[in-house]
Amino acid sequence: MSYQIAIDGPAGAGKSTIAKKLAAKLGFVYVDTGAMYRAMALFCLRKGIAAEDEPAVVETVEKLKVIIAYENGVQQVFVDGENVSSQIRTAEVGDMTSRISTYLPVREKMVALQQSLAEVQNVIMDGRDIGTCVLPNADVKIYMTASVRVRAERRYKEYQEKGIPCTLESVEKDVEERDYRDMHRSHSPLRQADDAVLLDTSEMNIDEVVEAMAAIALEKGIVV
Ligand code: C5P
Repeated sequence: MSYQIAIDGPAGAGKSTIAKKLAAKLGFVYVDTGAMYRAMALFCLRKGIAAEDEPAVVETVEKLKVIIAYENGVQQVFVDGENVSSQIRTAEVGDMTSRISTYLPVREKMVALQQSLAEVQNVIMDGRDIGTCVLPNADVKIYMTASVRVRAERRYKEYQEKGIPCTLESVEKDVEERDYRDMHRSHSPLRQADDAVLLDTSEMNIDEVVEAMAAIALEKGIVV
């Protein structure tokens, strides 16, 4: 039997940073589900498909072969044999992703892949619908959030470090729009699962959050 830790929350809440560290601490595999949706969005953008053109998006996504692999413990997303992991972190891809991830066939394909990954190993999986839809029986569910300003500042810093041009205002607007779309779509919208623990990271540093999560995992009976 494998353990499952589900982390959900809005953009910039710190899910992936924390999940990676906790995975290393517990010896679990970190599954970044946002990267899978982002890879699909990248291919739609490359083909020049408009996000509103649902049939074209669905047809494209259904044909793509997605493989998740790990190199030195770091998740890599391969689409039709190409490793796209370094190309999916732009604001343009992020925006397209939240638009195409509203379509049910896109979600069904990603969810099936995510569930198959969780069947065979101990995972920490982060996303928007992990506790509510992908892993409804997860041993631990965390809903991680922070204020819009704090989340925008974190994303802004990330873009600055990568040399991606932007302003704090544009990032904040982007974060707000993405929150709205993710929380109001009809298929598996972002929400806290009834049995998830709420963690507001606005005033916490990374180590404090990792420690808090490790304590929750221990409390829920995860022994490694
Ligand atoms: O977490 P990340 O910023 O990479 O996610 C990008 C977008 O992918 C989210 O804004 C959301 O629209 C979508 N997503 C989703 N379900 C997930 C993970 C991501 O709909 N499990």
